[in-house]
Amino acid sequence: MLNENVLAKVKTLTESAKYDVSCSSSGTVRKAEKGFLGNTVGGIGICHSFADDGRCVSLLKIMLTNNCIYDCAYCINRRSNDIPRATLSVNELVTLTMEFYRRNYIEGLFLSSGVVRNPDYTMERLVRVAKDLRLIHKFNGYIHLKSIPGASRELVNEAGLYADRMSVNIEIPKEESLKLLAPEKDHKSVFTPMTYIKQGILINKEDQKKYRHTPRFVPAGQSTQMIVGATAESDKDILYLSSSLYHTPTMRRVYYSGYISVNTYDKRLPVLKQPPLVRENRLYQADWLMRFYQFDVKEIVDDTNPNLDLEVDPKLGWALRHPEFFPVDINSADYEMILRVPGIGVKSAMLIISSRRFSKLGFYSLKKIGVVMKKAQYFITCNELPTMTINEISPENVRSLLLPRPKKKIDENQLIIPFSDDN
Ligand code: SF4
Repeated sequence: MLNENVLAKVKTLTESAKYDVSCSSSGTVRKAEKGFLGNTVGGIGICHSFADDGRCVSLLKIMLTNNCIYDCAYCINRRSNDIPRATLSVNELVTLTMEFYRRNYIEGLFLSSGVVRNPDYTMERLVRVAKDLRLIHKFNGYIHLKSIPGASRELVNEAGLYADRMSVNIEIPKEESLKLLAPEKDHKSVFTPMTYIKQGILINKEDQKKYRHTPRFVPAGQSTQMIVGATAESDKDILYLSSSLYHTPTMRRVYYSGYISVNTYDKRLPVLKQPPLVRENRLYQADWLMRFYQFDVKEIVDDTNPNLDLEVDPKLGWALRHPEFFPVDINSADYEMILRVPGIGVKSAMLIISSRRFSKLGFYSLKKIGVVMKKAQYFITCNELPTMTINEISPENVRSLLLPRPKKKIDENQLIIPFSDDN
């Protein structure tokens, strides 16, 4: 049973966990309704994530403890902060998860932790939670386990037997910046457990081919998170790192978390009035281009354009910088080139390829397919197209035609990252 004391700890620990976005979080509230079983305790700690098969699942997002021996400048849980602290025992966390699961509040668990004593001491407790859930309580829900930076290979390997997904947060893309803000951490302590996870998954895949009853090892792969805007790294630095991570076979998602000014007293950090959400969104769009639109990172950012354009999405930005590739003839171009047209997504590109076998496509059939003609019209040729293309109008004019009328001025803090004079 969950007593008041445990529920108070849960409140503190779910609050502390909310800054980690590496599970696609979005807090939700489910009020009790007649005919339905239970509610979500005021919505605290429940987030949504995507399982390996693409299903959206609700997870209990919580920390084992928000005590931490480290003092990372960007973190609310750093040891020098005077905040309410709490620690759940392994049994309390297992019971809590099972109670929530039985009541149908959640389909799984997203578990992270501050570091207590040392990385292995903490990791061992995280592993015990996952192990007890699977082996004692036969819990068959989703488990996303954060690996503690610096944890040993043995513990990471054991965790992988019980977790669906594991993640180690990079947080800061460049080592010198990480050293500045989190002197007790380095990139080695992050990339080493990532390598253990990768090796475990690859060995497991080979074993599965040879032995029928091989237990699964991190079947949903691994993910990581980078904080955006806490340090001076450009989008190029961030995206080049993401691109190299995606070239490893087990990295499924890189999450970008706009820096939230939680520790305003720390002069090593920029003073932002609000998190750089537009920049965060542009990074997700660029990430999408690399994963689903066959863009190479060098095409999205380079030395001339190290930061993404905040006013237009990265695909439109690329098209405006490369008018020589346009217009694309919708009725004859290959799939890869059609995919590069602003306003055409993966689904529309596939529909174009299959539909044009039966008749030539024009303005209205493209609209019907789902193409955003407001954008695409300047970059294509097809039957009955009433508009002039980018080369006739010029990229500058197309840009101004497509710029959204701003409802609200973009906060200048998101365009220039201000750092204090001391840095
Ligand atoms: S180790 Fe993790 S929990 Fe501890 S201060 Fe650093 S970021 Fe926060």
